[in-house]
Order: sequence, then C-alpha cells, then structure tokens
Amino acid sequence: TKANIGVVGMAVMGSNLARNLAHHDYTVAVFNRTYARTQKLIAEHGNEGSFIPSEKIEDFVNSIATPRSIILMVKAGAPTDATIDELLPLLSPGDIIMDGGNSYFGDTIRREKAIAAKGFHFVGAGISGGETGALEGPSIMPGGSPESYKILGPMLETISAHYHGDPCCAWMGPNGAGHFVKMIHNGIEYSDMQVIGEAYELLRGVGLTNAECADVFAEWNKGDLDSYLIEITSIVLRQKDPRTGADLIDVIKDRAQMKGTGTWTVQTALELGVPTNGIAEAVFARAESSHDDLRAAARKYLAGPDGTVSVDDRTAFIEDVRKALWCSKVVSYAQGFDEIRTGGQEYDWNINVAEAAKIWRAGCIIRAKLLERIRQAYTDDPDLVSLMAASSVSAEMEANQSAWRRVVSKAAESGVPAPVFSATLAYYDMARAPRVNAALTQAMRDYFGSHTYERVDDHGHFHIEWTGDHSETRID
Ligand code: NDP
Repeated sequence: TKANIGVVGMAVMGSNLARNLAHHDYTVAVFNRTYARTQKLIAEHGNEGSFIPSEKIEDFVNSIATPRSIILMVKAGAPTDATIDELLPLLSPGDIIMDGGNSYFGDTIRREKAIAAKGFHFVGAGISGGETGALEGPSIMPGGSPESYKILGPMLETISAHYHGDPCCAWMGPNGAGHFVKMIHNGIEYSDMQVIGEAYELLRGVGLTNAECADVFAEWNKGDLDSYLIEITSIVLRQKDPRTGADLIDVIKDRAQMKGTGTWTVQTALELGVPTNGIAEAVFARAESSHDDLRAAARKYLAGPDGTVSVDDRTAFIEDVRKALWCSKVVSYAQGFDEIRTGGQEYDWNINVAEAAKIWRAGCIIRAKLLERIRQAYTDDPDLVSLMAASSVSAEMEANQSAWRRVVSKAAESGVPAPVFSATLAYYDMARAPRVNAALTQAMRDYFGSHTYERVDDHGHFHIEWTGDHSETRID
C-alpha cells in the first residue's frame, strides 16, 4: 500500500506531526536528510501507526499515493528551498507540497508562483502549538490554491486541535496568506508574553513572592484572562531549580531570544502603515533585554527608582494590574487583527478575519478565552475597524481604563519598565482623542520642507510663506 501523505523533516515538529497523522489512521511516508532521525522515529514510535520510512528521497516520493501530499517540516529559509529543489524533479503534475515551517510569507508567495508554474500545488501553512500541539492537535493556518485545500484540508482538519468540535484549521487564502496569519499570530504572542512579564514585575514590585504571583496568575486564569500563556506562567513560576532548590525563574538569565517572526510582523506593519506599537515594543523589549553593553553602562550611570512599588492597598493594586493586563491584551490582539485585515486587502487574499480568530481558539500558543469574543465580533461585522470598538469589548475597556492608567503611572513612578502597558494605552488614547499632535508635525513639515497641510475648514492642500509675507497658497 502507498502512503496517504508524506512528511519531510523528522526533527521535533515533523516527527510529532507524522505521529499525529499516524494516530489518525493515515499511512505516513517519512523522510529526513539525515536518516538516523527517521530510524529513531521508527524505533521509538513505529508501533503507534502505519509509517513508511525511506532513506532515499526518490523512494520516499514513490511510496506516496498520487496526487501526492507532502508536508515539509524543515528549517525555514535556505533549507526549505533546498528540500523543494530536491523534490520537484520527482513529482507528478497535481502533487502538493505543503511547507509547515515558520517561513516568511514573502518567500511563500515567491515559491508558490514558481511551483504553480511547473504544474504543482504549493501550500504555505502556519502551524502553532509547539511540540505538544504537533502531536496532539495544533492550530493550522494553510494558504494556497483552493483545489489543494480540497485534498489536504480534510487531513489537516482531522489532525488539528478542536474547539467544541470545530477544527482549528481553515483555509486562509491564496499563496502567502497562511504564513502571513501565522506571522501575526507570533507577533501577538510576543506582546502577550511581554505584557504578562510586565504584570509579573509589578506584582514582584509590591512584594509578592514567586509562589504568590503564581497563585495570582492561576486565579486570573479562571476569568476573562483565561489563556494558555497565563496558565503556563503560573506553572513556570512554581518551578524549582533542580540544582539549588531556588525558584527556577530567579536563576534564568533575563535575556530573551527570538527567531524572527516578531520582527517580520513589525517590519510588515511598518510597510503596510498599520500601527502595531504594542507588538513593536515587545520585539524591542526582547532586543533591549539582550543588549548587555547598554544595560551594563546604564546600570552604572543612570539613576532612578529601584522597581519597588509602594501602594496603600495591595489587593486593589493587584486587581488594577489584572484590568490593565486585559486592556493591553485586547489592544495587542486589535493591532494584530488590524494587520491581518490590512494585509489581506493589500495582497488580495480576502482573508476572513473571523476565521483566523476561530482557528486560534485551541491548539495554538495564543489560545485564549478572548478569541471567542473576537471571532463573534468579526462574524457580526466583518468590516470592523478595530476590535477595541466592538461592542463586546468597548464597555469593558471603558470600565477598566482608569485601572490601566493607574498601573502605567505606578510603573513609571516606580521605575518598572512597562513598554507594552504604556504603548497600548498611548495607542488607545491616540485613537480616541478628538485631536492629536499631528497638526504641529504637519506644520513643521510645511515649515522646513513645504510639505503642505490640510485645513479643518476647507478641501485641498496648502502652503504658507512661513518666513516671508505669511500668505497662504492653495497647492491642489
Ligand atoms: P528545526 O527548525 O530545528 O529544523 C531541523 C530539520 O530541518 C531537520 O529535519 C533537519 O534535517 C532539516 N534541515 C536543516 N537544514 C537542512 C537542509 N539544508 N536540507 C534539508 N533539511 C535540512 O526543526 P523543528 O522541528 O523545530 O521545526 C521545523 C519547522 O517548524 C521550522 O520551520 C520551525 O520554524 C517550524 N516550527 C517550529 C515550532 C517549534 O515549536 N519548534 C513551532 C511551529 C513551527 P537534519 O536532521 O538532516 O539536520
């Protein structure tokens, strides 16, 4: 018998995805550049289902039923191109290659075009959920031709996570749409994690121990903040160091690494002109945390409060932090969804924003109770300008915003860095202000560069003779 599907790349993600497929009764062809990894999978898990291992890529391709579906789970970038180049001469017309790695969506657009021209289908699918998700059910965001989804879709939906019976997998749109949506997922993940970290520092600032912080996060996880990242925060904070018995969190170096998807989210947002300052601050916060020279010099020369937070009523402050966290989280998601909506229009993908929220409700790293509300908001109004303005969240934003302001003020006063709390509040205030400082910016631009300005009481563009006779000229 031939395999229903093939998986290339037997590292963490690929091997778990192959096992997940096998657990669902698919016969899975498996291949890895270094055969030892394939052998390891078969030795350790070969009895879990039906696998066809191959040492040579030709045998791997021949072991799959046509039209073939082949999932790549290899390192993003050049290794993905190298693997595609090896596969292409071996394929038959109508075969499908799906790249499940964290590829940049621009690469996916390029690959899809080149591969479609050769008569094959190329699907770029974002997969979220890490190692456990790949094995037990990830959130899958595929993009590519609708025909290829007819073949691949049922298999992907079967192995994906399910939210009350709904698969966490849906077609996002043509070519790069799936990887674009996955990129934004990761961008939101950055700001979600950073703002949880800021909340943690404030709780530590008012004197809570790690164990007490863990209890607070566990309690928060029972309400509106219910999410995977809050849940694991409480678990992480309880972990002891096996070497010293201290709280593990206190012996982990405070330098956060990154692989690039957050940076891409912000770069793309800048190109699209979408303000995603919460996500940007989260990416910069990781960069600043790793900037050893800057931090060493600043510790030596720059004065300020030491991060101790003094408050009259600790319980009330903790509740303020919870409300602030909820508001900042909503803004982070609002910014991410705004980028999906704008990118979807710019690249002609026609992304159904509610579908993206729908498939993030389970399986992925940013799964959260909030996502069902987001799905509902975009289902009720697919053209929703901003999640912040949805009736299901705006009332709560209004109720929580004074707590949010107190938290941002307290953080600034105490010297606790809170870039995402502050940036998202600034975004909220900028969006709702009747008038912002852009008039002065525009006036200065006209002063030094004759860039013109618009008037509140007339149409067209104008320039004033700032240093001459102060007369105004209509430019168009
Ligand atoms: P890695 O990203 O560590 O990639 C290792 C795999 O890539 C191995 O199978 C390796 O083969 C193969 N590979 C590397 N270079 C080449 C090359 N030049 N030619 C052919 N094959 C090559 O593995 P992961 O399992 O962590 O991730 C796989 C993909 O999934 C990546 O794109 C990653 O970004 C993405 N992803 C990862 C998640 C995670 O939680 N880890 C979550 C979601 C997506 P060999 O054994 O021969 O070296």
